[in-house]
Amino acid sequence: MQETSFIVLRGNSMRLDGGTMFGNAAKALWRKWMPADENGMIDIASNCLLVKTGNHNILFETGCGAYLSPDMKRRFAVKEASHILMQSLAEEGLTDADISHVVLTHLHFDHAGGLLSAWEPEREPELLFPKALFVVGEENFKRSKSPHYRDRASFIPGLAEKLQASGRLVFKQGGDRLVVDELGVEFSPSQGHTPGMLIPWIQAQTGTVIYTADLIPGLPWVNLPITMGYDRFAERLVDEKKEMLDRAVDEKALLVFPHDPDYAAIRVEMDPVKKRVMPSQRFETLNITL
Ligand SMILES: [Zn+2]
Repeated sequence: MQETSFIVLRGNSMRLDGGTMFGNAAKALWRKWMPADENGMIDIASNCLLVKTGNHNILFETGCGAYLSPDMKRRFAVKEASHILMQSLAEEGLTDADISHVVLTHLHFDHAGGLLSAWEPEREPELLFPKALFVVGEENFKRSKSPHYRDRASFIPGLAEKLQASGRLVFKQGGDRLVVDELGVEFSPSQGHTPGMLIPWIQAQTGTVIYTADLIPGLPWVNLPITMGYDRFAERLVDEKKEMLDRAVDEKALLVFPHDPDYAAIRVEMDPVKKRVMPSQRFETLNITL
């Protein structure tokens, strides 16, 4: 079996309201976990996972990207005007044309916006990654085309149509697998955050890597009861998170977070005293071979 490299790439960063991001946690608690500015806004990263098999370059998610207009960039405090993920790829000697697969856990704009080119006046952003297969959960794809009032603002108008028109859209269901060379990706279904979110469990030669998606956006949310205000079914999300963490302990898996500004990944263990899953190792950056 071939060795596989796992590299966390930074995309565009945002700031979001800490109260919304920490849903059911009081400010007195969450501000100990993450610093907030005077308006209560916290840093939200776009951590994307590049997996290189030797023959293929698979990208898990694209972050918020730079497609938003200057007005909308201000609203979400997107710091950079340029497409940061493209720069991060260039630092690895790659362009978007070198990516064979883009896997999207769900189609919220802060995960899928990087599929699009950076905003330019009077020009519709276009779909990047000209050769990639776009691997998307069918249920969340349908949701993005017909969202609920509560999450309508999280989806990108017209993106589903652009993906369809590419002819390179691959639908997956919960429980399905993606096999690329000798790498297997198992998609674990999750309904707590948004309908039909798929959590990739990536099985390499010597270990498992989970891209946690919005089931665990960053380190503080490893705390079982903590959910986001954006989550659709909070209790269901907590149950799904518990199942993921218990299995991650069993498989000694590495967890990669989409939104943590400080930690790209962690390993977890069962704390025998507290009787809950806790981080055992923290990685500020990630570039490893498994
Ligand atoms: Zn989301």
